[in-house]
Amino acid sequence: MAGVKRRDLAERDRRLGAATLGDLEIQGVDVFCWCNRCGHNSTLATGRLVAELGRGHPVPEVGARLRCSRCAGKDVATRPAWPSLGQVARHG
Ligand SMILES: [Zn+2]
Repeated sequence: MAGVKRRDLAERDRRLGAATLGDLEIQGVDVFCWCNRCGHNSTLATGRLVAELGRGHPVPEVGARLRCSRCAGKDVATRPAWPSLGQVARHG
């Protein structure tokens, strides 16, 4: 059954959501952004965002600085762009 790990995933997601750009930089993970208005999405290089906003900038707040390149909307959500979400290695 797929429902078993659902709570764990949600919890992990919340933790990751509070990650900072510095955290992602260390792990070599880029930032995935999604426009809530038109659904456009893309991945931004963490290194570039660090240069602009600093390592201590929380990933979820990056979206507040972004504007959708397609519809120019400002309702952009951001989260870590894990390369293989769903089959992340288990570290206990
Ligand atoms: Zn958009």
